[in-house]
Amino acid sequence: MPELPEVEITARRLDAALRGATIESAQAPGINALKTFDPPLSALAGRTIEGVGRRGKQLVVQISGGLVILVHLMSAGRLQLYDKRAGPRDRTSRLLVRIDDGRELRLREFGTRQAAWVKLLRAEELEDDEMLKTLGPEAWPQPPQDLRALLRAPRPLHTLLRDQRVIAGIGRSWVDEILWTARLSPFKRGNDLTDEDAAALRAAIIATLDGALEHYEQVVKLPIPDKLPLPLQVHRRAGEPCPRCGATIEAVHYEDYVMCYCPAEQTGGKVLKDRRLSRLLK
Ligand SMILES: [Zn+2]
Repeated sequence: MPELPEVEITARRLDAALRGATIESAQAPGINALKTFDPPLSALAGRTIEGVGRRGKQLVVQISGGLVILVHLMSAGRLQLYDKRAGPRDRTSRLLVRIDDGRELRLREFGTRQAAWVKLLRAEELEDDEMLKTLGPEAWPQPPQDLRALLRAPRPLHTLLRDQRVIAGIGRSWVDEILWTARLSPFKRGNDLTDEDAAALRAAIIATLDGALEHYEQVVKLPIPDKLPLPLQVHRRAGEPCPRCGATIEAVHYEDYVMCYCPAEQTGGKVLKDRRLSRLLK
């Protein structure tokens, strides 16, 4: 679930709180979370955190002496900063970075799946990381000017915009909000976009992600809450009235996510086939 705005506010908060902090030790209780072994985690001891930033949906923690921690939260991870250390019974911890003043930076993950991951890399290895190397241009703060060229493919917008190799940062929640803001059908193909559509889409990406971040700046505080208060207007709101026109928000259910849209404004009144529903009716 954490997408560009959630990762960005996490990076901002952690950067402000941790810049200059000295690491005492680090350990990875989540046996599968640490994806690298050289340099070892013990190399972090005694080093300083120089900054925390974001690339796409990933967090990048810069460490003195040319090291960098790359974190992918996947669908249920959080990177949180606590004043006290975790007890031994905290089963959500995947990585613990202890600061010498008693604070603890903690990668936690909720649910049963262990998917969130961490890599400890040398700074010069960062750009070669398989994930970062294939990342498309950032969706925010300035999506590419020529969005029509970027999206020129016979794939639905709902898929294209979530493809991190095409454009980085957007996922299942914000894609619904962006397409609704742009009044574009989630199934419109990338290569069917007019110049006008592309301009509306670009404006919608900026406005939607800006709006989310403005909201988070007001409400998100350290340690970074387990549940982030996503200011969503259509996503996960099937059956409710569209906040703009009052039509009923419709949904298409996929195996592990839901796509929501306003039929009156996005699909010319057409209600898209819900595969789950049609399967149930068979
Ligand atoms: Zn509407």
